[in-house]
Amino acid sequence: MSSTIEDLARDNVRALTPYQSARRLGGNGDVWLNANEFAQTQTWQLTQQTLNRYPECQPKAVIERYAAYAGVQPEQVLVSRGADEGIELLIRAFCEPGKDAVLYCPPTYGMYSVSAETIGVEYRTVPALEDWQLDLPAIAEQLDGVKVLFVCSPNNPTGNLINPDDLRQLLAMTAGKAIVVADEAYIEFCPQATLAGWLKEYPHLVILRTLSKAFALAGLRCGFTLANKPVIDLLMKVIAPYPLSTPVADIAAQALSEAGLALMRSNVADVLSTREWLIEQLQSCDCVEAVFPSETNYVLARFSASSNVFKTLWDQGIILRDQNKQPSLSGCLRITVGTRAECERVISALRPLAGAGLSLEQA
Ligand code: PMP
Repeated sequence: MSSTIEDLARDNVRALTPYQSARRLGGNGDVWLNANEFAQTQTWQLTQQTLNRYPECQPKAVIERYAAYAGVQPEQVLVSRGADEGIELLIRAFCEPGKDAVLYCPPTYGMYSVSAETIGVEYRTVPALEDWQLDLPAIAEQLDGVKVLFVCSPNNPTGNLINPDDLRQLLAMTAGKAIVVADEAYIEFCPQATLAGWLKEYPHLVILRTLSKAFALAGLRCGFTLANKPVIDLLMKVIAPYPLSTPVADIAAQALSEAGLALMRSNVADVLSTREWLIEQLQSCDCVEAVFPSETNYVLARFSASSNVFKTLWDQGIILRDQNKQPSLSGCLRITVGTRAECERVISALRPLAGAGLSLEQA
């Protein structure tokens, strides 16, 4: 009997719902505030005209500059096609499909489960506490068979940092048993909170970083894994032979130069001041029930009639990210901090919308 193409696929791939990235979700907007990108770009020149040759697997200039920037040794850095590839490499290197599990605490970033599912590895969830901190006793109960734990700090989409004392307890309870991955994709917006200085103490700590957010290079697809050498050596076994193209390495090295770092820091300062303005304005909109504090380049807020708010802004070309389906986030939308003008568009669109219990006519 002949099989359909669908029948030939792996069971877990057939059952998989792919990650609903902002780009896949589409929309016809002119104000894109749904992917936590930096709002403006700069132009880059290619300096390496050697496209006839394969690139270096781990381009030396990029590794050395990132190590210096992050305050670690070059042997503690792996560069990959975005932090997303780092997530996948960690699961592939440490988890046996059908046997081991990964664990994470929703609401959080969606790729931990998608990558685990793609690879055929069980994912276990322990919901975050009401204040979006770790439920350590519940995690302790679920650790059997877990090889990799993902903790996003600051967390996407809630914007909060994970308590460092809790992280220490998590590292203590997992020592010798599992890898703890701190996803620091947004750490440039709160650099004092990095765990990079902890690598000396914890052989099982891994940190994920990216150029997609504060460095304004989401289109470049360049991310980093920081860990002690034994972890990096294992990841090097499963990474593709040429994970970064020559133009990507070329631009990444420029972004990590002194001038590149200064530009990033000035961009971060702008985002932080616009964020403060946006939070203040959101707090005075009738349709906003709560604005949550943020350590990042996005703000999570709870709205009365959030699907109506989402659609009203969508129809005006303002694209936000609906977080309504995530555990504990009913009524919540995530708004990337765009330019001041973009944030003004958001506020102007929200102002006329009514609060809970009022119809539009009454407001
Ligand atoms: N981790 C988190 C928490 C993120 O929000 C993102 C980007 N959406 C990533 C990792 C992946 O980043 P990259 O673009 O480097 O793959």
